[in-house]
Parts: sequence; structure tokens; C-alpha cells
Amino acid sequence: MQDPTAAAGPEPLNPAQQAVLDELGASAEDRPEFPDDLRHHLRAALETAVEPHLDDLPDGVDLYLNKHRLAMVHGCEARFLAEEDEPFEWRVPTARGSVVHKAVELAVNWRGPVEPPLLVDEALASLEADQKNLSDWLQGIGEAERAELRSQALDAFSKYLECWPPLKSAWRPVTESRLRAEPCGGRLVLDGKVDLTLGTARGLVAGKVIVDLKTGGTNAVHREDLRFYALVETLRMGVPPRMLASYYLDQATFVSEVVTEDTLRATVLRVADGVDRLVGLLHGDRTPSRVPGPPCRWCPARADCAEGQAWLEERDEA
Ligand code: SF4
Repeated sequence: MQDPTAAAGPEPLNPAQQAVLDELGASAEDRPEFPDDLRHHLRAALETAVEPHLDDLPDGVDLYLNKHRLAMVHGCEARFLAEEDEPFEWRVPTARGSVVHKAVELAVNWRGPVEPPLLVDEALASLEADQKNLSDWLQGIGEAERAELRSQALDAFSKYLECWPPLKSAWRPVTESRLRAEPCGGRLVLDGKVDLTLGTARGLVAGKVIVDLKTGGTNAVHREDLRFYALVETLRMGVPPRMLASYYLDQATFVSEVVTEDTLRATVLRVADGVDRLVGLLHGDRTPSRVPGPPCRWCPARADCAEGQAWLEERDEA
């Protein structure tokens, strides 16, 4: 039996939790200092590259860009257009992330033992009361869908608690942090919402780590998503994040990247190319490309797409 008089020390970390600390920790020498004019150079490069495309927008129309739109327009453009026509609807897989992030936020400040079912229920209750869109959807779903959402969120949150050390408030953890930049006088809006940030810059020395928590497998586009966040963060703060990391809960593994000026410049070019494509597709006469591949399986245009059908038939999936 445990000695009840023994002092309760911190729980020892399991190997997965220790790996998170080892991956994200940095000594003072590992924190790069960036030039104070970096933000201005990046903004100037971005504005020079995108302004000719923005001039093709109709009067009074601005261009909104987030990581999802940017990734979609760099994939199959016909699928991008088909999905743009579909109205956004909350579903269990999209709502799950919001519930998990809210539970993580509650866990940071929770007094007493963190019980995953209790925190997921508290997160659901808080979102149902707080967030307008998600709140409406949560209030309207049936018992079976709600149970499915709770089950999936509980699975992901439990894995997060297993794999991550308890977040100390000194690490400045922030969940669902909104990032936004409006270059070109607001004609281009760059918008993002980061799952989790830790740390902060000190002067021009980078210190923030941006983390996306992922269920499912790795995908190269996740790295590009984080690079987009790094660019927006640099445009707004003047100092880039120190590190970008996708954390895959099912495998308990990181794919991480240290942010450099080259990374940010490459992202400026990707954003500018995306703006060119978006303006051409939505407001010009650009013919959308068709890029068959695994996304054909759930593409809303698949019934009328010969290229997609051929790709699916080759795999007996048509
Ligand atoms: S079915 Fe495939 S190739 Fe066709 S539009 Fe959709 S994703 Fe593109």
C-alpha cells in the first residue's frame, strides 16, 4: 500500500511524454535571432508578387486565404471549385478537433485530477454555450451523432494526455490561437487558427512553437499548412516562430521543422501562386486542372469527372 504520508511529487513522464519535451525544448543557443526588417521584406515580396493578380478582382472584392483553401487550390483545381460550391456543414470529424482543443485548454487550468471523460463533457458543454456556429449544430444533433462525437473526441484527448506532459502555464500554452494578416491594404486576407502554441519570442529571438495535433496518418501538406501559419505569424509579430510541428496522436510521433528565412520566402512564393490560381478560377477564365488521386474517392465532382472515374476504375473503386 502506498505510504499516505509520502510527499506527492510530479508523476514521472512516460517515454512518449519525454520525447515531446526533448523535441520541443530548446536551450538559449538553439533560439535563432532574426533581423528586425524581416517582416517588411516579406510583406514587400508578398505584395509585389500578388498585387498583379489582385488587380483582376472585381471592384470591392477581397481575397480570403486560409490553409485549407491554399492546399486545395494547389491540388486538383476542379475539386477545389466543386467543394467551394458546397455549403460548409459541421460534421463529427470537423467538430472533433474543436472539442479536443477546448479540452486541452481546460486541462491547462484544471484544478484537481484531469479525467478525460469529465473534461470532454465540460468542453462539449462550453462549446454548446459559447461558439455560435458549432453551438447551433451541437444543439441540433441527435443522441447517436453526439455519442459518436464524444467517443472520437475522448479517444483523441486521451491519447493527447498519454503522449504529452502536463502543460505548465510558464510555457504559455494557447489553444486555437487566431492569426491574421491583411497585406495589400486588406485586399488579401491571410487567416489561420493554430491548434496549440507554446512559448513566445523575446525581442527578435524566436521562441514560439506552433503545433498542429493530428489524428490519422502523415501527409506532406501538413508541413505546408504550418509554413503558412509561420508566414502569417511573422507578418503580424515581426519574429517567426522557432519551430513548426505536426504531432500525430495515433502514432505518438512528431514531424517538426525549424523555421528559417528560406522557409518563409518559399511560402511567400506558394501563397502568391495560390492567389494567382484562386483569382483565375474564381474571377477569371482559368481552366481548372484535374489531378486524379486518392481524393477522387470523396470528391463531390467524381460522378461527372472522366479523369477521376478512370483513376477509380483502375482500382476497382468506381
Ligand atoms: S474526381 Fe478526382 S480528378 Fe476529378 S475533379 Fe475530383 S479530385 Fe479532381
